[in-house]
Amino acid sequence: MRFCSIGSGSKGNGTLIQQGETCILIDDGFTVKDFEFRLAQKGLTPLQLSAILVTHEHGDHIKGVGPLARKYRIPVYISHGTAQHEGLGKIPSLKIFDSHKAFSIGELTIMPVVVPHDAREPTQYVVSNGEHKVGVLTDLGSLTPHIIEQYQSCHALLVETNHDVQMLRNGPYPARLKKRVEGHLGHLNNEQAAQFLKSVDTSNLQFVVATHISGQNNRVDYAVNSIRRSLDCEADWVIVADQDTGFDWCEVA
Ligand SMILES: [Zn+2]
Ligand SMILES: [Zn+2]
Repeated sequence: MRFCSIGSGSKGNGTLIQQGETCILIDDGFTVKDFEFRLAQKGLTPLQLSAILVTHEHGDHIKGVGPLARKYRIPVYISHGTAQHEGLGKIPSLKIFDSHKAFSIGELTIMPVVVPHDAREPTQYVVSNGEHKVGVLTDLGSLTPHIIEQYQSCHALLVETNHDVQMLRNGPYPARLKKRVEGHLGHLNNEQAAQFLKSVDTSNLQFVVATHISGQNNRVDYAVNSIRRSLDCEADWVIVADQDTGFDWCEVA
């Protein structure tokens, strides 16, 4: 099983997880043209995608989903709440899942995990090939016992390190937006990401990725150091998901 990102941050997100002939895309916040370019950079074409999974209806996650699904007739998996978002348009094959039940796509099993975020029914995902587990966790304002339970013993974790609290407070955002980002339905800060990593069993962990890093309210070295300290690992072991290029394929073995 391998995974990569085609971009991560408030300007657009997309994560790929592949096992054999099965390749799923989690979120697509890019125009079709931009997406096709980014996917080609990872050596794939849209025809190789088995499904698109949506986490929630914010533009940086959903913008490209409708156009991509229509152009290539790719099935879209989505929670009941997120499916109510009218901006999605007509989807040729819409699969609404129960956000508390695992489901399968080809060789992969997907467990949706409901998270606290200011959206209709936001779900993040733990993806398994039966042997290994990759956990994707972004766009959440706080941690819940349910999240901690679901992300135990993953072999790879892509965790949100959105902001540094002091930088956000002293930064350029208007007061209301600061409150939203910092709130319990907002985004995970560096310290919360560290706390998450300390709360789950990381004894299987082969990869950890810092994702959804704010360009204005964080610094990459702050995000990396927070993860490094919590895992007691070297800084160069922490992968950084970049807005422009994401990060390259990582193979869990
Ligand atoms: Zn987002
Ligand atoms: Zn969001």
